[in-house]
Amino acid sequence: MNKDFDLSNRVAVITGGNGGIGLGMADALVRAGCSVSIWGRNPQKNEQALAQLKTHNAGKVEARICDVSDRSSIEETWRATLGAFGRVDGCFANAGIGGGGRKAFIDRTPEEWRQMFATNLDGVVQVFQLAARHMIERAEKGDAFGRLVPTSSLASISGTARNEHYAATKASLNALVRALGVELARYGITANAILPGWIKSDMTEGIMGNDKFVANVLPRIPMRRFGEPSDFGGIAVYLMSTASSYHTADTLLIDGGYAIY
Ligand code: NDP
Repeated sequence: MNKDFDLSNRVAVITGGNGGIGLGMADALVRAGCSVSIWGRNPQKNEQALAQLKTHNAGKVEARICDVSDRSSIEETWRATLGAFGRVDGCFANAGIGGGGRKAFIDRTPEEWRQMFATNLDGVVQVFQLAARHMIERAEKGDAFGRLVPTSSLASISGTARNEHYAATKASLNALVRALGVELARYGITANAILPGWIKSDMTEGIMGNDKFVANVLPRIPMRRFGEPSDFGGIAVYLMSTASSYHTADTLLIDGGYAIY
C-alpha cells in the first residue's frame, strides 16, 4: 500500500456528510482508514449514512446533528466531535443549499439572501475558524498539518442567472481558500475548494428528472454522463493525505470537462 494515502491516523469532519457528495467523500475517506464525523440536520439520513460507512469496518465513524446556519449549533457540535476524537485534521465544509428554484434578481427577498449566505458561506467560515484555531494550536506544538476543503461549485465561475445568490456564496468560497491558503501555509494547513459540475444528488434530483434539461446539458459534458457522489472520493483522499502537502489555495473543478467544452 502507498503510505501517502493511508489515513488511519487522521480525523476528518464532513458537514453535509449524510448524503450526496459529502457521503461520497466520507465513504472513500473511511475506506482509506480515516476517522470521520459526518454532520447533518436530518437524523434519519445521519443514521442511514452511518450504517453505510460502518460496513467498511475501517476508520471510526460518528454522525452528529448540526445546523451549519446556526453558530451555536456549530460550536456545540465541534466541541462534541473534538471530545470524541481528540483532534481534527481535516474539515470538509460541504453542507449547502441550492437556490430552491430560479427567480429574477429583482424579486429576490432579503430572507432568501440571508438564508443562502447563512448556510453556504457563514456555515463554512464558522466551522473553518474553529478548525483553523485548533490546527494552529497543534502546529505551535510541533504537529503542523491541516486541511480546509469547502465544496464550492462550477456556478462560482459561470455565475448562474436567476440563482445569483447561490453563485455569489460559492464565488466567495473560492476567494476564501485563496486567502486562507496563503495565510495558513506556515502552519502546514492547506485550503482548496472543490468545484462540482452537474452531480446526481438530492439537490439536483428535480432538474435531472427534466428531459429538456438532460437533452440540453448531457451532450455538453465531454464524459457524457452526470457526476456521481463517488466521483468525489479520490479527490477527498488526495486532499486529506500527505501527498497534497504542497497543493494549496486552489480551486479544483470536478465536472467531467463541462466547463472547458
Ligand atoms: P445534497 O442535498 O445531497 O446534500 C446537501 C447536504 O448538506 C446534505 O447532507 C444536507 O444534510 C446538508 N445541509 C444542508 N443544509 C444544512 C444545514 N443548514 N446544516 C447542516 N447540513 C446541511 O446535495 P449535494 O450533495 O449535491 O450538495 C453538496 C454540496 O455540493 C453543496 O454545497 C452543493 O452546493 C454543492 N454542489 C452540488 C452540485 C450538484 O450538482 N449536486 C454542483 C455544485 C456544487 P441534511 O439534509 O441533513 O440537512
